[in-house]
Amino acid sequence: MSKHSELASRDIANHMHPFTNPVKLEETGPFVISRGEGVYVYDDQGRQYLEGMAGLWCANLGFSEQRLVDAAQRQLQRLPYYHSFTGKVPDVTIELAEKVIAMAPGMSHVIFASSGSESVDTAMKLVWYYHNAIGKPEKKKIIARERAYHGVTIAAGSLTGLAYATSGFDLPIDRVLRTGCPHHYRDAEPGESEEAFASRRATELEQLILAEGPETVGAMIAEPVMGAGGVIPPPATYFEKIQAVLKKYDVLLIADEVICGWGRTGQMFGSQTYAIAPDMMTSAKGLSGGYQPISALLVSAPVYAALREQSDRLGAFGHGFTYTGHPVPAAVALETLKILESDDVLGHVRAIAPKFQRDLRAFAEHPLVGEARGVGLIGAIELVADKASRAPHAASAGVGAFCVAAAQRHGLILRVIAGNTVAFCPPLIISAAELDEMFAKFARALADTETYVAGL
Ligand code: PMP
Repeated sequence: MSKHSELASRDIANHMHPFTNPVKLEETGPFVISRGEGVYVYDDQGRQYLEGMAGLWCANLGFSEQRLVDAAQRQLQRLPYYHSFTGKVPDVTIELAEKVIAMAPGMSHVIFASSGSESVDTAMKLVWYYHNAIGKPEKKKIIARERAYHGVTIAAGSLTGLAYATSGFDLPIDRVLRTGCPHHYRDAEPGESEEAFASRRATELEQLILAEGPETVGAMIAEPVMGAGGVIPPPATYFEKIQAVLKKYDVLLIADEVICGWGRTGQMFGSQTYAIAPDMMTSAKGLSGGYQPISALLVSAPVYAALREQSDRLGAFGHGFTYTGHPVPAAVALETLKILESDDVLGHVRAIAPKFQRDLRAFAEHPLVGEARGVGLIGAIELVADKASRAPHAASAGVGAFCVAAAQRHGLILRVIAGNTVAFCPPLIISAAELDEMFAKFARALADTETYVAGL
């Protein structure tokens, strides 16, 4: 007899899971989630979990927002599908485009897709299209950072600077350049201030551009706060210095707002939190609260002007998907953005983020914790083997994985990223009492982890 439930056995038999070891899955079986309510989800046994990651950093309005359900249902009844090719467009998609542009400072036009990866992929194509349009066809290389996460399509996966997205896939493709990660805790020299570290990273960026030839470098892509690479807020003055270098050599900046966008950092966009003035912005996840697959690539007026002229010269803008601007996700996204405004979700984030950050940072005193960091309602706790030297645990010890598994036993879903860093990214609607519950459960998981580490 199988040790797994019937449902689990069917899953193992038929379904290849993303970012999962298929051999281990056969042993452990899947963790089956059946329903959601507020900041909680429930497994197929009816057990409740506080979702401390908002799923994959996206369920910003929790798991039971009726207004989003109603918006989807209304749209399914009225117009369940239409496309946006050859001048046609669903009416609701026009409304969403107008709303997105009204809420995104400095942006002129939006190009929809279904996932963050597709938006990043499109951004890469547009860097090439743009430079062809303005008569600089050599300017094609794109700079991304170590530990960046930009998705998994061939282009986005190439920009992602984490081995798991490239190993075995023959990625990255060419035209991708790599620059250093702004991880002060891990990468700064002993005693180096945030400002001095930021200057060093900016100098390295300039050296890279000069070594490659500025006439060959088209763009840089950066998450305002790096997400899957470790939840890494930029060190003080970083983006100011990076942007000065990019400007000097006429290199476009793409802000990857897939996690930061729509309120996560306490402003509508991470670009506002860190005074970034990008030429393009990618956004997904929170755009629909995760309820429907939709992403948006936003472009500034000068970029749009070049795309417009080039497309006219070529006869059309030869890009788009069957589901570009799909009316159902568009209706849900439009409702999401209306809720952000009508419920003053940003006001709530700003009110509750100081408590979140204070409670998170209180763990910095714990003997297992190297650093607790974050901004707004995103944070991380980096577990280390030795606080003083910051030495990490051996990967084989699985300390971070143990900690999140322990949290799950206590009814809290978190995620281990970048080795032994535990990420926190709860729904933006989380209450103070739910935050207390989240950190109390995490404290118990950390105590279990201490026992585990002592036995290593
Ligand atoms: N960019 C960033 C910053 C992300 O965090 C992610 C997803 N975690 C992506 C792009 C890719 O988005 P998707 O998984 O929707 O393709």
